[in-house]
Amino acid sequence: MLPTGQRVRDVDKLMTVIDAATDEMVDFTCDILRIPTVNPPGDAYVECAELIGRRLKTFGFAVDYPIAEGRPEHTASHPRMNVVGLKQGRSMRPLVHLNGHFDVVPVGDGWTVDPFGGIVRDGRIYGRGSCDMKAGITAAIYAAEAIRRSGIAMNGSIEVSGTVDEESGGFAGMAWLAEQGRVSSDRTDAVIITEPTDTDRIYIGHRGVYWFEVMTRGRIAHGSMPFFGVNAISQMGLILAEIQQRLLPVLKSRSTSVPVMPPGARNATLNINGIAGGQPVDGMQTPCVADVCRAVFDRRFLAEEGFDSVRGEIESLLERVAHDSPELKYELRDLMVVQPVHTPDGSSVVAALEQSIQEVLGRPASLAASPGTYDQKHVDRIAGVRNCVAYGPGMLDLAHQPDEYCVIDDLVKCTKVLALSLLSLTGSQ
Ligand SMILES: [Zn+2]
Repeated sequence: MLPTGQRVRDVDKLMTVIDAATDEMVDFTCDILRIPTVNPPGDAYVECAELIGRRLKTFGFAVDYPIAEGRPEHTASHPRMNVVGLKQGRSMRPLVHLNGHFDVVPVGDGWTVDPFGGIVRDGRIYGRGSCDMKAGITAAIYAAEAIRRSGIAMNGSIEVSGTVDEESGGFAGMAWLAEQGRVSSDRTDAVIITEPTDTDRIYIGHRGVYWFEVMTRGRIAHGSMPFFGVNAISQMGLILAEIQQRLLPVLKSRSTSVPVMPPGARNATLNINGIAGGQPVDGMQTPCVADVCRAVFDRRFLAEEGFDSVRGEIESLLERVAHDSPELKYELRDLMVVQPVHTPDGSSVVAALEQSIQEVLGRPASLAASPGTYDQKHVDRIAGVRNCVAYGPGMLDLAHQPDEYCVIDDLVKCTKVLALSLLSLTGSQ
């Protein structure tokens, strides 16, 4: 598109308004950060949803608070409350939905600042959730607000949501909104999830996930005469050795043509999440051979692999170990399967962000896929909106780390990119 005089003036105004709102955006991000919305268990969700909702209301959004009634994780002590604000332009469509999850992962060790202090230092906002992804919520809200402050009449409409539980699967959050039809291909034209994507990168999907549990069953006996029993932990050891020696090298040799970042995640991977067997090691000990051992695995698969062959590969590995070790008794149980997601080529949301990134940052955007999943899967599979990506402030590598921070300059730039993209996606320019 050739820039018209009016468009140049609109863009200039937007950039000026966002620069002028920098302190306000930093303050608001700090306010959200001070609410410790740690998940699990899902603390302080109501307080955080209401803080976001109040700001949206102040900015002229019609706000409501969808609660995930009936979901097992929605309890009296930890209610699953989301927040959605709608600002209608001249017409309802096109409707662009900006989403951010406001739950954060537990703090962990190694912090040198108060993770919930909302501390600003050296041009950075520190705190658990600063980059993943409370700064992203601020960027979404202020991108929309900048359009209003610039006096630009919107053609279509903007929706901004803050949702819960993304870190634990998003079932009471974005999946819930999608199931309720709040985000749906019947009404929603584009979705941008403002996860941290390094300012110039657009995430167009993610690898697949297969979480599974393997249980080995042994036979209990007196620990002084272990030869009368079968040790389930030793049996699990055989499986782990086979994974280490035979499976992992194969996975490492497989790579995808999808631009997953970081590049190490272009290979198939497997992580051992946890293992438990026999007696609790910090409890009082009795002389017993362990009769049960369980381990949970996290297999991330490539679009090219396909889930059936991924599961089949685990089944045949277990059969192979059992064949060589006839005492091995095991059960394989699927815990979670997420198919890979990929934004279709030629999606308008990608084009709008690419153009805005070039305009704001003066360099081309890059497209990437995520090593882990995020709420795009629910937007794609349940809501049926494939015109969806992740783009937002913060460095992905800092997510879930101690001393997590978001650079203020990145927050401002991403807000500008989002504001320009909203203009074009709502047909307002
Ligand atoms: Zn996140």
